[in-house]
Amino acid sequence: MRRSIPGPGCAYFLDLDGTLVDLAVTPGAVRLRADLPALLTHLQRASGGALAIISGRAIADLDRLFGGRRYPAAGQHGYERRDARGRRTARALSRHALAGARQGLAFLARMHPGLEFEDKGASLALHYRRAPRHAALARRAVQAVHGALGSRFVVTTGKCVVELTPAGRNKGSAIAAFMRERPFAGRTPIFVGDDRTDEHGFRVVNRLGGCSVKVGRGPTAARWRLPGGEGVIGWLGAGPPRPRLVRRRPRAR
Ligand SMILES: [Mg+2]
Repeated sequence: MRRSIPGPGCAYFLDLDGTLVDLAVTPGAVRLRADLPALLTHLQRASGGALAIISGRAIADLDRLFGGRRYPAAGQHGYERRDARGRRTARALSRHALAGARQGLAFLARMHPGLEFEDKGASLALHYRRAPRHAALARRAVQAVHGALGSRFVVTTGKCVVELTPAGRNKGSAIAAFMRERPFAGRTPIFVGDDRTDEHGFRVVNRLGGCSVKVGRGPTAARWRLPGGEGVIGWLGAGPPRPRLVRRRPRAR
């Protein structure tokens, strides 16, 4: 079997959209590569089960996308987590807390074709990939509803998306929690991600002496970089070509 890089002592934390799958016009339109499940199974075996999907999607959405395969996962940018034993943790949050925001943002999306409203339960997103002209409108709207909600939530921005997510948890805190548990504890963490919300994860992995990998361009705390598209799959061991990791140039001070 092809040896996976960087080796059996690692724990794998992998973002999904823009990292393992290409971004699509809407979150519902992404397509998994046919060989992705086999690659993830291979990495799980090679790492003694130390693989988790670290995503902005809800865990239920990840399970649906993976056809019912239930990987250890962090969903909604770390708000919810499912550990290697299948136990779910999510801080209690009343669905009612977001009722007004939900209604307002859904209405805005209905009024502006191309804006896509996504209700993940504890977080709400406006996607504008189909209508980049609505970027400022989407940001203003989410900031406005955030103003009414206060410090329990934060506004996060990503690639063509602006989102309202519960405060206090992020991808970094999720990775740190996994790293305190079996079978992740004691391994070298690898985190691969492509977007701004992945930066929390890169910083935690750097602190733990692991391998942080930014996919694509843009400023980052990650220490390594991979090209997008096939680059990640190739590096993780699915098959040639396997691109070289490019060490991030230190930023000029
Ligand atoms: Mg991503």
